[in-house]
Amino acid sequence: CGISAYIGPREAYPIVVNGLKRLEYRGYDSAGIMIYDGSNIQLTKTKGKVSDLEAITNKEEERKVGNIGMGHTRWATHGVPNDVNSHPHYSQSGDLVIVHNGIIENYDTIKKELISRGYSLKSDTDTEVLINLIEEVKKTEGCKLGKAVQLALTNVVGAYAIAVFDKTKPNEIIVARLGSPIAIGVGKDEKEFFVASDASPFVEFTKDAIYLEDEEMAIIKIGKGVKVRKIHDDSLVDPIIQKLQM
Ligand code: GLU
Repeated sequence: CGISAYIGPREAYPIVVNGLKRLEYRGYDSAGIMIYDGSNIQLTKTKGKVSDLEAITNKEEERKVGNIGMGHTRWATHGVPNDVNSHPHYSQSGDLVIVHNGIIENYDTIKKELISRGYSLKSDTDTEVLINLIEEVKKTEGCKLGKAVQLALTNVVGAYAIAVFDKTKPNEIIVARLGSPIAIGVGKDEKEFFVASDASPFVEFTKDAIYLEDEEMAIIKIGKGVKVRKIHDDSLVDPIIQKLQM
């Protein structure tokens, strides 16, 4: 399973898909990608290989153009491997999108609470529960996306590497880690950023990498850099930029 994402001035699709291919060694049963074109999120996901995903997105009407992208290879834990359960997953409003590796153990309790508040879920995944929890927290607390992700994660039992995008705030990606790896590639002058399960998807673009530790999250903002904090005690962390040797 793997995560590959990009935000910056380049075409996101080839970077994200080539990234997914480099992560194939991690094993998976489905693949998916979302590209944001400046106004809309375009989503394609399928059971099968990254090459199956490409076979779909190579078609003219499915071609993905845009500068922000998030891709995922799934190793199913909750819900069978099929197109609907593949990631990325939307929140109910359609504004938020998530890719997730790991398991949300208390998803059933959260799911029941969300359903009682009027949410309806399309997939059988724990991941779709999490993105709707984030949406609900954002709405009820009236807070920014980063805060909503943080608050939602303090209610979660499990393991995760996640990347979240909000089309109403399209200059940032939020990532978080507990038990599954996440690396951030920092581009020149902080004009572009890469996110991946390991550095192999972005090493050709930048040698500057930040590896999140467990219990850490990062707000990655174009032109503003990477702000890292502890999920549970809210303290700020000075991110260490490692020089990749590869
Ligand atoms: N638990 C999630 C699912 O079943 C993510 C699995 C993964 O790590 O790829 O969809």
